Amino acid sequence: MMTNHPFSYKRWLIALVRWFDSQAATEQLATGEAARKIDKLRTLPFVLIHLACLCVIWVGWSPIAVLVAIGLYLLRMFAITGFYHRYFSHRTFKTTRIVQFIFAVIGAAAVQRGPIWWSAHHRHHHAHSEEESDVHSPVRHGFLWSHMGWFLCQSNFATRTHLAKDWMKFPELRFLDRFDIVVPLLFSLSLYILGYTLQQYAPSLATSGSQLVVWGFVISTVILYHATFTINSLCHIWGSRRYATRDESRNNPWLAMITLGEGWHNNHHHYPRSTRQGFYWWEIDPTYYLLKIMSWLGMVWDLQPIPADILNFRRLEKLTKHKTDRD
Ligand SMILES: [Zn+2]
Ligand SMILES: [Zn+2]
Repeated sequence: MMTNHPFSYKRWLIALVRWFDSQAATEQLATGEAARKIDKLRTLPFVLIHLACLCVIWVGWSPIAVLVAIGLYLLRMFAITGFYHRYFSHRTFKTTRIVQFIFAVIGAAAVQRGPIWWSAHHRHHHAHSEEESDVHSPVRHGFLWSHMGWFLCQSNFATRTHLAKDWMKFPELRFLDRFDIVVPLLFSLSLYILGYTLQQYAPSLATSGSQLVVWGFVISTVILYHATFTINSLCHIWGSRRYATRDESRNNPWLAMITLGEGWHNNHHHYPRSTRQGFYWWEIDPTYYLLKIMSWLGMVWDLQPIPADILNFRRLEKLTKHKTDRD
């Protein structure tokens, strides 16, 4: 049994090792109520990345640094929504092992742990939405818990491998899942090298290694975090409900905008099998548009449509409200 004494060296050591090997000492993970306490040591990097945003005071800004931050936000958000969510969690389309791996790596750069951990927890959320066991229900456990408390506690550190058996057969995915710090470290190092190189060879851009790390990694990742987390927190309390799902999921155009289409969360809970989450043309869903383009290029295929009968099944609003409903 692991002692809970705050100055236990063993406790420090295990937390430290888990920064690098997320599956270290899984047999020592707390159970019951103790498992629902925030593990301050293990999650210290999460706190530090927020504090590191203040480094902008020292590194300053440049147009190139802001552009890199925006570009890497969009790229990694797409890897999370298009692949971690619509592919690894729901298998709404097919792709090659190479494309699967490339987007698993880009998704891992979002520092939301590995694709197997992510998809297994997400599958659990769909199977138990708004039940007591739902890992991130704002209705059951409050806003803060659903936004970020749930993954800072030992109860959700381990990958629920029984819910993602389909991905366990890929050693490259198991590696990303276990050593989930590797990609973020290499990613920040690459940004530093890029910034340093630009400083040497294109000084007019007024950037530097540390500036690109702060903007492209730190700030971009923190904004990406909270935009992603809103789908688990706000999207179950703020917005409209089109379908009578057994959970409190909502459609929210504002959240759809910042998450490349994930804000159509009531649609999604109604029919998670669909690649598309914006069910109508006015429900902007950039992730779907990008996947569609990728399908034209042959990189992905078998995108799952929304069957006509599903579109109007268990519908709460009047069908006459929108003419296009008959399309
Ligand atoms: Zn949900
Ligand atoms: Zn989902």
